Amino acid sequence: MVAAGNKMNITQPEPQTYIKQMPKGECTYCDLEYDKPTGLFPPHTASPRCQSGHYKHCTCDTCF
Ligand SMILES: [Zn+2]
Ligand SMILES: [Zn+2]
Repeated sequence: MVAAGNKMNITQPEPQTYIKQMPKGECTYCDLEYDKPTGLFPPHTASPRCQSGHYKHCTCDTCF
């Protein structure tokens, strides 16, 4: 009989978890946003479809 094949062996980078705002103390930029009442700011994690370098708190049309 065939042993149970394990196909979980694919090597690919872990998908980046989308983070809107890091916990306090984790990111200087995010820390500043805690003091603002608007809640409107570029997300901590850039969009996977970002076309502007995937920088944190990217303000391109795709991310923000
Ligand atoms: Zn941040
Ligand atoms: Zn972007």
